[in-house]
Amino acid sequence: MFSHTETESVRLTDAMRSVFVELLVHGPLSRAEAARRLALSPSALTKLTKPLLEAGYLLEAAGEGPATVGRPSQPLQVDASRMSFVGIKLTADELFAVRTDLAATVQAETSRPLADHEIDHVLGQIAEVIEELAEPGRPLSAVGISLAGIASPSDPVVHTSPFLGWSKLPLATLVERAVSVPTVLDNDVRALTAVQQWFGEGVGHSSFALVTVGAGIGCGLVVGDRLVTGQSGATGLVGHLQIDDRGPMCERGHRGCARAYATSPSIRRSIAATLDRPELTFDDCLSLAADGHPVARRVIDEAGAALGQVVATVANLTGPELVVLSGESVHMYDVCAGAFHAALARHTHWTATPVRVAVKPFAFNEWARGAAVTALQHLLLHR
Ligand SMILES: [Zn+2]
Repeated sequence: MFSHTETESVRLTDAMRSVFVELLVHGPLSRAEAARRLALSPSALTKLTKPLLEAGYLLEAAGEGPATVGRPSQPLQVDASRMSFVGIKLTADELFAVRTDLAATVQAETSRPLADHEIDHVLGQIAEVIEELAEPGRPLSAVGISLAGIASPSDPVVHTSPFLGWSKLPLATLVERAVSVPTVLDNDVRALTAVQQWFGEGVGHSSFALVTVGAGIGCGLVVGDRLVTGQSGATGLVGHLQIDDRGPMCERGHRGCARAYATSPSIRRSIAATLDRPELTFDDCLSLAADGHPVARRVIDEAGAALGQVVATVANLTGPELVVLSGESVHMYDVCAGAFHAALARHTHWTATPVRVAVKPFAFNEWARGAAVTALQHLLLHR
C-alpha cells in the first residue's frame, strides 16, 4: 500500500497495518507496550516492525542515554515526515487546502475563491493548490476532499452537495485524472471526526460523537472504534431535529428545528431583525448576550438549549463515552453553557450516565486538515 508513490515500497499485511496505526495514534510506545496493546509476542512484533523500520516508516525514538539505533529498549514511533497529504475543503465560495504529514500536522496552507461551481473551474483550482502545496521531489501520498453533503471515502461520487449544487458528480475520479494522486472524498463533519478519532479528543475512546455548530449543525459518530459512514455516506443528520413546533423557521420550512435556533446565521438573523440592526455580526450578537442584552441573551440561551437537546439526543441514541463539541461557532458555548447543560440534563434519558462533553476550540483550517486525515485513514485502512 505504501508502494504507489514511494521508491522504497513496503507491502503491508493486515498485522503490519495494525501495528503501524497503533503507533501512529498512540505512539511513541515501548516495544513491550506495543506488543501488549496488540496482543502480540515480542518476537512477532519485531518481525512485523522490521520492514517498516528498514523502509523508514518507523523510527526508534530517542530515549534516555546514548541514542544507539536499533536498541530494542527504545520506544517505537512513526516517522511523520515519511508521507505527505493534501486536504481540501470546498465551500460555496472558497476552497481551503492544507498539506499535512502523517501525524496530521499542518505544514502549509492556502486558499482560492471559487468564482463558480462549474466542474472544470473547480478542477483547475484544485490542481493549482495541489501544485502550490506539494514539495518539489516529494510525491503526495493521497489527496482528501471534504464538503458539506453526501459523500464518503469508499465512493468517488459526490451524491449531493447543496451548497455547490452538485449531484452524482464523480469528483474523486476527475481529480485523480487531473493530478495523478489517489483522491478520496468525504462529508466535512465526518472528516473532522476522523481528526478527533486519531489525533484529538477521541484518542483512547472506542465510542464518541462529534457535534459541530456553525453555518450548519453536524454530527460524526465513532462506534466501537469505527467511524460510521452509513448507507452512501448519509449519517449524523441532526440539523433539522425538531426542538419546538412554535419556534423560528428554517430554510426547509421546518418550524423550530435545531438549525432554525442554533446556527450562526439563524442567531445573527434573529437578533439583528428584532433589534433592527442589520449590521450586527454573529460575534457582535455574542458580545451583546455576554453584556446581558435581553434580546441577545434570550436568543443565545435558546440556541444553547437547542444544542443541548441535540447532544442529548445523539447521546441517548449511541451511548458515547464522550461528545466533542466543535465547529466555527463553538465559541458561543462560552455565552450559553448554562442553557446548554440544563437542556442536556433535561433531555438525557433518565437511565443513562450523563455524557462527558469536551469543547474543542476551532480553527478554520481544521476542515481541510480533516480532509487530509480522511485521505490518510483511507490509505492506511483500505488500500
Ligand atoms: Zn429545519
